Amino acid sequence: DLRGQVAVISGSTSGIGLALARAVASRGGDVVLNGLGDPSEIERTRAEMEASCGVRVRYHAANMLKGEEVADMVAYAKHQLGRVDILVNNAGIQHVEAVEKFPSDKWEQIIGINLSSTFYATRAAIPIMKAQGRGRIINVASAHGLVASPFKSAYVAAKHGVIGFTKTVALELAQDNITCNAICPGFVETPIVEKQIADQARTRGMSKEAVLKDVILGSQPTKRFVTTDELAGLFLYLVSDLGASANGSSFSIDGGWTAQ
Ligand code: NAD
Repeated sequence: DLRGQVAVISGSTSGIGLALARAVASRGGDVVLNGLGDPSEIERTRAEMEASCGVRVRYHAANMLKGEEVADMVAYAKHQLGRVDILVNNAGIQHVEAVEKFPSDKWEQIIGINLSSTFYATRAAIPIMKAQGRGRIINVASAHGLVASPFKSAYVAAKHGVIGFTKTVALELAQDNITCNAICPGFVETPIVEKQIADQARTRGMSKEAVLKDVILGSQPTKRFVTTDELAGLFLYLVSDLGASANGSSFSIDGGWTAQ
């Protein structure tokens, strides 16, 4: 039951972030959505979630590349909804390219969105959580925060960075009843992966079907995608009171990928 709690979830107009937002709202928590997309579609999602769950749902358009906007998103949650109990740093992008051809702008964007925005949002949320005497910070890292794959240098570097950042924040806040953990999903069927299948097919000179079978699900022993419900299950544990001693950890939900 998350009634009375407020969650801020970056990159929640799509995929995993949207699923976690629905998990919070359906348990009675208020939500600040964020992310890119068609404004009227976002407004439809926001209004539908608010009406079907009977909670307050707001949207903040912060660009995760801009530290000030990221901080403003957190301040907006406090201002609009009164609290910030749960921060989910989830926004992320991917670019698949051999390192010697990797474009500088893509590198900077991936580090900015996938790693630095986590710092800006966390920094802004900590004083609010400290004043409340409780907080939960969940960073959506990846199996690629623990192991690498070729052609994903920026993503792998950013996600490894997220895990290092998670550990540091956990140590700093261990006495404040604020936990900080990373979730490391394997492949989940979302737009970021659909785009990747096409990109990998190009980079590796393979068909999309072959990429799905041999590259994407090739690394995942279960041979199926992880579902957003499965991620929500772990997420709900981590934000609960029972999750109080889970701190500074990286939790794999990857169908056995990183067990290999
Ligand atoms: P997605 O593309 O569906 O969602 C990404 C979200 O981030 C979207 O809401 C998008 O609008 C938002 N976003 C992108 N750039 C932004 C920016 N500049 N400012 C604000 N928002 C921005 O992909 P997803 O699979 O749901 O990814 C969510 C997170 O999960 C990412 O961090 C991703 O790296 C991670 N992840 C995904 C998978 C997977 O297989 N799908 C696996 C492991 C980790």
